[in-house]
This record gives sequence, structure tokens and C-alpha cells, in this order.
Amino acid sequence: MAVLSIEDKENQELSRRYKELLRISYQTLSKADKQLIREAFNLAVDAHRDQRRKSGEPYVYHPIAVAKIVASEIGMDATSIAAALLHDVVEDTAVTLSDIERMFGKTVAIIVDGLTKISHLSKEKEISTQAENFRKMLLTLNEDIRVIIIKIADRLHNMQTMESMPPEKQVKIASETLYIYAPLAHRIGLYNIKNELEDLGLKYTEPEVYYDIYDKIEETKEERTAYIEDFKNIIKTALDKEDLKYVIKGRHKSIYSIRKKMLGNVSFDEIYDKFAIRIIYESDRKSEKFYAWKIYSIVTDYFRPNPIRLRDWISSPKSTGYEALHITVVGPKGKWVEVQIRSQRMDEIAEKGYAAHYKYKNGEETEIGIETWLKRLQETLENPSGNAVDFVEEFKLNLYAKEIFVFTPKGDLKSLPKGATPLDFAFSIHTNIGLTTRGARVNGKLVPLNHELKSGDQLEIITSPSQKPNANWLDYVITARARSKIKNALKEDNKNIAERGKELLDRKLRHLKIKMDEKVVNELVMFFKLKTSFDLFYRVGIGIIENQKLKDFAAQKSNSFINYFKNKIRKSQSEAVDTTKEEVSSNYDLIVFGKNEEKLNYKVANCCNPIPGDEVFGFVTVSEGIKVHKKDCPNAISMQSNYSYRVIQAKWIDSSQREFKATITITGIDNIGLVNDVTKVISSNMHVNMQSVSFESDNGLFNGKVIVIVRNNTILKRLIEKLKKINGIDKVQRI
Ligand code: MN
Repeated sequence: MAVLSIEDKENQELSRRYKELLRISYQTLSKADKQLIREAFNLAVDAHRDQRRKSGEPYVYHPIAVAKIVASEIGMDATSIAAALLHDVVEDTAVTLSDIERMFGKTVAIIVDGLTKISHLSKEKEISTQAENFRKMLLTLNEDIRVIIIKIADRLHNMQTMESMPPEKQVKIASETLYIYAPLAHRIGLYNIKNELEDLGLKYTEPEVYYDIYDKIEETKEERTAYIEDFKNIIKTALDKEDLKYVIKGRHKSIYSIRKKMLGNVSFDEIYDKFAIRIIYESDRKSEKFYAWKIYSIVTDYFRPNPIRLRDWISSPKSTGYEALHITVVGPKGKWVEVQIRSQRMDEIAEKGYAAHYKYKNGEETEIGIETWLKRLQETLENPSGNAVDFVEEFKLNLYAKEIFVFTPKGDLKSLPKGATPLDFAFSIHTNIGLTTRGARVNGKLVPLNHELKSGDQLEIITSPSQKPNANWLDYVITARARSKIKNALKEDNKNIAERGKELLDRKLRHLKIKMDEKVVNELVMFFKLKTSFDLFYRVGIGIIENQKLKDFAAQKSNSFINYFKNKIRKSQSEAVDTTKEEVSSNYDLIVFGKNEEKLNYKVANCCNPIPGDEVFGFVTVSEGIKVHKKDCPNAISMQSNYSYRVIQAKWIDSSQREFKATITITGIDNIGLVNDVTKVISSNMHVNMQSVSFESDNGLFNGKVIVIVRNNTILKRLIEKLKKINGIDKVQRI
């Protein structure tokens, strides 16, 4: 009997794994495909020859396993399989990217490059840079979606083989998986992989919870199998009579989702939809829908359906591409059970997502939801705004958001996340439509821009070229796309204000015989307790830094005795001033009260000493007026419960961002074009929003009333001055 050396055994094992990889491929592989995979396989084996995994097995087993997931579970093409085999080669061995490009061509090289970049990122240790890393990772979506898909497969295999890792590493990797990889897998339509990632994530982050549920599922297995048998037996004859080819399966919910339900204070036994029954039928493309409803009708002949739990994802598929008919019925033994009806094609799409779409797309012109989503995502990624944490959070929200479906005026269907508003809709159609939205009609009725849309609504957006986004809009939208577009527009607006402010400041300082240079600017930033020079220019631009304050600054500057000391302090501080930032930093400097955000006199309470930005409330005292406490002040509960009538809403605001309403009356001699001139002056005046206008003319006299929204008095005064200059205007007054 020949004795095999360890090396021989491993070689034998490698060739077995290679054959299996080809055999389980979801897509049919051509000769050229097999050639490509063979070469990638050989290079991977060769390059990783001397490496072992923590478990002791040859390292190359890992890329092979990832390639298997890519080939079979996700069902990707040969290029992806090759790239998966090579995904760790550049990172961990002497093989270079140009070697890969030379041997396998540009596409494989681009994908491997993307994967190498991500793997560099994940080696960063700082937690604070984690979000930034995720953002960079998402940016690789711009290159090739296959990068992310292979990365998800890589992560899945790492999660499956994490036993031999130190516990703190396990927890870190598992949390990362729950934070970003599972949501991504969900969005790409890889439901099975998402479930597995979540379950494994729970297993390592909360093992007791995981095993507790796992055991309970095991215990109820027999009961469940029997239940599904009962269900089958009842409808079998009726289905068979229709000459349908079908299978009926039961599938329990993932451990992770059962746990999520239990967090809502439901016990394991109380969760009625722990498992669903799936009826998967054969059909050609044309008759799919017809059969689905036929099966529906048979099922509901025997089991009473719950009318509010019917989901028709066949007529309008989810934007992940998911299609099926879901109903909940009173099943055997009077128990509620969800029944999912899908054709074989729909089932493949549900299991494999993206890849299955391609298989069935066959040059059809209809765009699948996932492609629209990717296109939209890429646009958002192209101009990322805000900090990395916000970005990733918003992105994640979009991943999990439930969807609604609304109609355009022409009757086209659009999907939006639940909670979306007409503004979200406008931005989803086109950036320019979003930016110039003036109003919206839902089902023919005018609605406010923050109106929450419902499935089935028909929308019409009213635009006006003079309309501009304002800061409130950020509260009206929920989609990342709209947010980032609005933020960019506001930033642009603020930049213009700051630029004008800079010129204005230069002029004002010259008046005071001060030359504006970097040093003076830094001194002014300190003097007004701001963060950046941009903040300073911006505040001059919108007019909340008054001339008197600048005079105070000049006076203080000329006092050399004080200067001597102040300079010493300032020196160390001014180094911290970043003069390049082009964003207004929020500077909470004022507390306002009540729903109308009124300015009132107040004192800060000694017991909790709230500082700007804290969550606060006002408490009306008998002798000392309003006192402001922190919401988590130790005395808060007793004040709120015993003297609730004395509690008054309060919040810190940034007074430079505050807006108020003003009514202006205009009188003059009525002549042609006057109304036009007035509205032109108002709408072309930066930072003034017109809320309503009414004009009437009476025997050649003209009376107008305009309500505007402005940030401060300076802007209002400037506007009034401009209106007065219009030919024919007699009087302009604020009332
Ligand atoms: Mn890997």
C-alpha cells in the first residue's frame, strides 16, 4: 500500500477542491472560462504556497472557499471567480498588480486592486477611522460592484472560520459584519448570505442569546416538519389537479431576526411567523403571474387569508429585485402562517440576487431595480458631503429603508424609502428639479414639502427657477441623495456669502485703519469666539457682526498693555485655527423658548450648568425669572413632575442660522412691470425667501404686501433699501 506524504495528500485535496469549484458553478462555464479559472487557481496555489491559516490548513483553502461562494451561492461569472481566487495574492504575497494585469487582463486586475485597497483599510487600528474606512470601501463601488460582492463572500468565509481567532478579534470582526456587511448584502439582494452573516454576527457578539434561540429552534424542529406536512397534505390534491409542477418547503426565520422580534418584548413562543411556507412552482415567463394567483386562490380556498397581510411583490418588485406573492393565512391547528408563492426564476433571484438577474435579463430593456439603485448610489458617492460617520449612517439607513411606491404624473412607478417626502421625490427625478422645487401636488392637492408620501400617491412637482434650497430642507428629506445635494447647494450659498463678507470686512477694517492680514483675521476669529476664518467672513456677510463690535475690536487692539498679555495666550491658540475650512461651524450662542422659538431673558441654573449645545429646558421661577436646566439635571424629574406647568421648552440655537418672518408693505404708483420689478428684487436678493406676495391696484395706486423670511435685520434693511430704489415706489415699510 502506498503511503502518501502530507504534501501529496494536500495536492490531492487541492485537485478535489478545484473540480468541485467548477462543478458547483451556477453559471455555465465556457472553455475559455475554465482556462481563466485554472490559471488563477494555479497562481493562487503557487503564491500562497508557504502560508497557513490560523487553523493550520494551507492558506489557499481560503481563497478557494471564497471562490466557491462566489461561483455557487452568489452565482457570479468566471472573471469574478478568478478574482476571488486571487483576492489575497497582491496583499499577502510577492505577486504584483501588474503581474495580474499581464496574466489576466485589466478587469481582473481592477477588481483585485479594489479588494487589496479594502484589505489595507481594514488593517487600520483606530476606531475613529473606521467610518472613514467604510466610506472609502463604499467608494470602490464606483469601480466595480464585483469588488463589494467578492468582499462580502470573503467576509462570509472569514466569519464561518473564526473559531481559532482570539475572542476580542472575533467580536470586532462580528460587529463590523453586523454594522456594514450584512446591510450591504441585503441591499444587493443576497438574502441568504445576509441571514448567515447576521446569525454568525450574533453568535460572536452575544453567544448566550444566539445559542438559546438556536436550541429552541432545534427543539421545535419535529413539530415544524409535521406542521408543514399537514399543510402540504391539505392542498396537495387541489394543486395536482391543476397540473402544476411545484415543491413546498418550510423555512424558519433567521436567529437574528427572531432575536430582533424578541427585543420588542415578545417571547419565543409568541412569535407566530417563526417560519414561512414556500411554494415554488415551474412556469414559463409569460404565465408566471397567472400561476402565482392561481396558487393563491387554491391556498385561500383551504385557509382563510388575513387581508391586510397580502404583499404583491410580483406586480411591483422590490428595488432589490425581489419578486414573490406573500400571504398570511390561518393554517392547520388555527395558527397563522406566512405563505410565499414564487416561480423558480423568482426563487433564484431571491437566493442569488444580482447574478440571477443577469441570467434572466437576456437583453430585456427593463432596468432592474438594483441597477437604478447602483446608479443613484454612485451619484451620491461622487460628491460625498459631511463627515464620514454621517455618511455611513445615512448610507445604512438607505440600505434598510422599507419602500413605498409612488407615481409620476405620467404614471411611471418610482420607488422611494418609507417616510420620503415630495422633496425626496423631486431630487430622485433630477437634481435641478429638486433644487428649484417650490411646491408639490399629491393626488391633485397642494401639500407642504415635508408631507410624508404613501404608496400609490401620484405626485406633481411645481418648480420655479428663482427657488433655492434653505437649511430647513434638510429636515424635510430622508434620502441620502437629496441631503447631499441640498448640503452642497447650501455650502455653495454660504461660500458666496463668505466671499462677499471678506470684501466687506476688508473695507470696514480699512475705515478703522486696520490692514486685514492673516494675523488680524486670526485675532478677529478669537475675538468673536469663532472657529474658523470662514465663520468670520460668513457672519460679516450676513450682517450679524455689527460695526460697533468691530470698533470694540479696534479699540482693544490699540490698548497695548492688554495686548501684551493677550498675545501670549493667543499665540498658542491661533495655531489651532484652521483657516481653510469652508463650512460654517455651528456656534450655539442663544437659547430660545417655546414652540415659536422666542428670545426671552434667562439665567443658567447652577445645579447643572448647561453649556451651549446641551439639551435643555426652561423653568419659570418666582423670584428669578426663567432658569435653564439640562434635560438630565438631577432635579429635572422632580421639577417636571411637580411643576409641569412651569416647564417651558428651550433649545440652544446658532443665531447666525436663525430665520425670522417679516411683513413689508409697499405703496407706489401703478405702472407696467412694477410687480415684476418688486418680485425680481426680492428673489434675486440672496438669503431672502419669499413666503407670500399679494398686490392690488386701485385707481393707479399700487399696494403690495410681502412676507419674507430672512436671517437678520441687516439683510431686511438692505432689502428695504433696494425696494425703495425701484422706479415708482413711494413707501416701503416693515410692519
Ligand atoms: Mn480574504
